[in-house]
Amino acid sequence: MEKEQVVIIGSGCAGATAAVYTARADLRPVIFEGMEPGGQLTTTSVIENYPGFVDGIDGFELMSRMKSQAERFGARFEYGEVASLTKAEGGFAVSVKGRDTVWAKTVIVASGARARMLGLPRERELTGHGLSVCATCDGAFFRNVPVSVVGGGDSAMEEALFLTRFASEVHVLHRRDKFRASKIMADRLLASDKVKVHWNTEVVGIEDKDGSVAAISLQDTVSKKTRRHETNGLFYAIGHIPNTDFIEQGLVTLDDEGYISSPGVTTETAGLFVAGDVHDREYQQAVTAAGEGCRAALEAEAYLAAQGA
Ligand code: NAP
Repeated sequence: MEKEQVVIIGSGCAGATAAVYTARADLRPVIFEGMEPGGQLTTTSVIENYPGFVDGIDGFELMSRMKSQAERFGARFEYGEVASLTKAEGGFAVSVKGRDTVWAKTVIVASGARARMLGLPRERELTGHGLSVCATCDGAFFRNVPVSVVGGGDSAMEEALFLTRFASEVHVLHRRDKFRASKIMADRLLASDKVKVHWNTEVVGIEDKDGSVAAISLQDTVSKKTRRHETNGLFYAIGHIPNTDFIEQGLVTLDDEGYISSPGVTTETAGLFVAGDVHDREYQQAVTAAGEGCRAALEAEAYLAAQGA
């Protein structure tokens, strides 16, 4: 059966960059875009920290440009969600929902991670309109207004501290009476006079005004009393869920949070590479994902050359 040289699973920064590099190497990569073509960045507004764009760039625009750049060199982007990735003779079988199985000599898994959401009504439509899962991306839009951060882990500490640069007040809402975060991060947060921590507090509803977040309903987990809290920004920092469900067991090792635990972009399975948020639980930035996409592409190219492909 005919095999593709490279299949890339995911079309965020990591996948799109891997596509640019493998396409330029004449490997004619096929990229399965997944449920969210362009990845998480397409849901943020202006990206101000991607090098080279002095005035920032819209997330959707950045990803469209990366895609066009890869297509210019022969990359083939296909709409489709990968249902399973399994080992096959001389490569891999990539089964895509609603279409025939694709066979590949190498695969780059760049399927990303999705932010964990609370599951409250209207979250999707308010994302980008006061509700955000990325303070680094969106924090600067909340100058001199009160914001709220949900979570008690290191991410929540980091996001809340970052937001103190812009917001008038940062309210940290945590469902327990003790942070999960490391002591050093928690101490830093508690030392900020812009921060107010609301212990034993859960967000149970979001209110909007003219389509943007205006207030939230909070419930005390002990007394069960609810109250209204006005806030212009609502940031979720309750962890991420890496997208690895489709990968056959044994091809890669997952850590306790479900991230692929390879230290670099190669894995224990020859010909299988990873890039971006699906294994990077530390940085999770567009530029680091792009860097890994580049590395994975170069590794795939070297692997194919060594196979004489
Ligand atoms: P995390 O450590 O899993 O913390 C998630 C937080 O969200 C927890 O406090 C959890 O509450 C809360 N949470 C989860 N689901 C919730 C829900 N449905 N409703 C309300 N609250 C909910 O995730 P993370 O903070 O993203 O960190 C992930 C990993 O990256 C950790 O290993 C962390 O140390 C690391 N990290 C490190 C740094 C750093 O060192 N600079 C920065 C960021 C992240 P409970 O505590 O009650 O479970």
